[in-house]
Amino acid sequence: MAHPRLRIRLTAAAESIVRSGHPWIFENSVREQNRAGTSGELAVIYDRNDRFMAIGLYDPDSVLRIRVLHSGKPLTIDDAWWKARLEASFSRREGILDEQTNACRLINGESDGWPGLVLDCYAGTLVLKLYTFAWAAHLDSIIRLMKGASIGRPTNTSPANLVLRLSRNVQPSFAAKGIKDGQVLFGTSLQNPAIFRETGILFEADVLAGQKTGFFLDQRENRRAVESLARGADVLNAFSFSGGFSLYAARGGAKFVTDLDISSHALAGAKRNFQLNQNDLSIVACRHETIQVNAFDWLAQNPGTKFDLIVLDPPSLAKREKERAEAIRAYEKLAAHALTHLRSGGKLVAASCSAHVSADEFFDAMRRAAITSRRKFRLLNTTRHAPDHPATFPEAEYLKCMFLELD
Ligand code: SAH
Repeated sequence: MAHPRLRIRLTAAAESIVRSGHPWIFENSVREQNRAGTSGELAVIYDRNDRFMAIGLYDPDSVLRIRVLHSGKPLTIDDAWWKARLEASFSRREGILDEQTNACRLINGESDGWPGLVLDCYAGTLVLKLYTFAWAAHLDSIIRLMKGASIGRPTNTSPANLVLRLSRNVQPSFAAKGIKDGQVLFGTSLQNPAIFRETGILFEADVLAGQKTGFFLDQRENRRAVESLARGADVLNAFSFSGGFSLYAARGGAKFVTDLDISSHALAGAKRNFQLNQNDLSIVACRHETIQVNAFDWLAQNPGTKFDLIVLDPPSLAKREKERAEAIRAYEKLAAHALTHLRSGGKLVAASCSAHVSADEFFDAMRRAAITSRRKFRLLNTTRHAPDHPATFPEAEYLKCMFLELD
């Protein structure tokens, strides 16, 4: 016999949070439910007057018990609804994909109405990254939906293949169902790494095993800005990964780019990315070196080495709220060390991807580092999330970047 619908009531505080549009309902906000729920089933939330409030993905394995899919008027979630939601996400990216750029984020989790789910495209390859096991119950529908999707303007092609990536914490639950991180869900002969184009520059993405979905698509707009600052410059790209900022600096006319990363794998990728772009004369003309090193240590030492442009894009320094204060101090120290390597008239581009450190806290730390250097400085710009990485609630905001010029 079919189960009755899973009906949920929340605490008063949680009701108002959901009404305000927040997508997360924690375990301790559930006041009442008519039965135990199964992973991924659609839970309907009713208010104290028994009126429909919201509908979400139920996740008994997580303290984040329900991820809201829709709140407001009652509706039925069926195939047509999912398809419309996919099209809405795709249409928010109009203008990002073109002849020069065939990679971007197509779905950015909660902020696009797909809680715990990310979808990136790299040329014809789609990469689906799941952060909750609740989506396992819907995987077949997602595969059907993606097969029918049309990506990439102006040609609007069907995806060649779909790769599944799983966040570490959900890998064991998926493994119990025989589903693995890096599995190809449909499509033939996957090219790994995938080669794609971002504003005309060719890059590779290790879609099967690389960090995130294989590339840091979220820095595209900041990379463009770096290109415009790089003419004639000696550039240091600290925490370079596969050289994203470096290729843009090179195309922008940098003389010499030095990549620092602790990962030899990342630096090998940076070398290959320079090789992929040998038809670009500016990139060919730029000298490129890679140094495998702990960048925190390297910046604290090597006092004689100077640059005209320094990019600092470290990994998240605060994985938890309690690491926040320590992370702010670490950002300030990192920037202070970087400034000792910056020539007169040089520019610092400092980014933070720690969601637990707010943009204001980060920008203040950068200003303190500049003030402590006793050099005059000018704020060139601050940036936040790229348009294909929208953040619609506070916990989703992680990326911020400051551009400074130092006397
Ligand atoms: N700026 C890059 C993304 C950087 S991700 C881009 O636009 O693509 C952070 C990078 O820091 C990763 O490549 C990781 O290998 C590297 N990393 C982590 N800890 C490090 C350390 N202590 N020293 C140097 N690199 C480090």
